[in-house]
Amino acid sequence: MDNCLAMFVFILGTCLGSFYNVCIVRYLKGESVFWPGSHCPVCKHRLSWWENIPLLSFLLLRGKCSRCKAKISWLYPCVELIAGILTLALYWKFGMGLEFFLYTILFGILIVASFIDLQSFILPDRLTLSGGILALGFSFWLPVGPKMGFLGAGSGFLVFWSIQKGYKWLKGQEGLGGGDVKLMIMLGAMVGLSGLPVLIFASAVFALLGSVFFWLQGKTIQAKTPIPYGPFLSLAAILYVLAGDVALDLFHKIL
Ligand SMILES: [Zn+2]
Repeated sequence: MDNCLAMFVFILGTCLGSFYNVCIVRYLKGESVFWPGSHCPVCKHRLSWWENIPLLSFLLLRGKCSRCKAKISWLYPCVELIAGILTLALYWKFGMGLEFFLYTILFGILIVASFIDLQSFILPDRLTLSGGILALGFSFWLPVGPKMGFLGAGSGFLVFWSIQKGYKWLKGQEGLGGGDVKLMIMLGAMVGLSGLPVLIFASAVFALLGSVFFWLQGKTIQAKTPIPYGPFLSLAAILYVLAGDVALDLFHKIL
């Protein structure tokens, strides 16, 4: 593989990550995505070009605003790095074609939705529902195919809707957010009906590991402490798209 092109794809991914950061932060603050330009949230200092380079600026600035020295959240470089790695992984898996572009859009929506969910416990409808429509439309051109895509979306939604209603009926409280139920339309369309059991199982394992991580960090997890489930579902779907075939092969060999 051409190293130069791979480098370019990674940098492109980190630039996309930079845009995702803008979407995440401005959604949480209720600001417009396109106006005003990038600025420090504390002193409103307009960022110059060298303060706006994905990953590098955070290192150059040592995680602080150049004017007021306010700390810059480590989530910014984190999102840029994740976007860079995932874009590169998509290029590795699918090459530079239609699939690469379609999955890049879907992964972008999942990254933005996940980081909003992590910080606010909200999965915005405008992301989950438009993501669902896009994923269903894209399924005509993606390996999953429209039949499996539509069946996956419908079943995923129904399964999570039943769990949500059932839990509420049994316990009298919300166990699963409505946003997760709507997100399943998009994820079901991405992994297809046959990928749905793997998606649900893997996301549950990731959520469990995530809770242990929160717990180790000293955040007391009580029975009622909610953890955002959207990021774990998204992670499972992304890994399924990238390595589902490899994982299933391995699974069949072991059994
Ligand atoms: Zn500042």
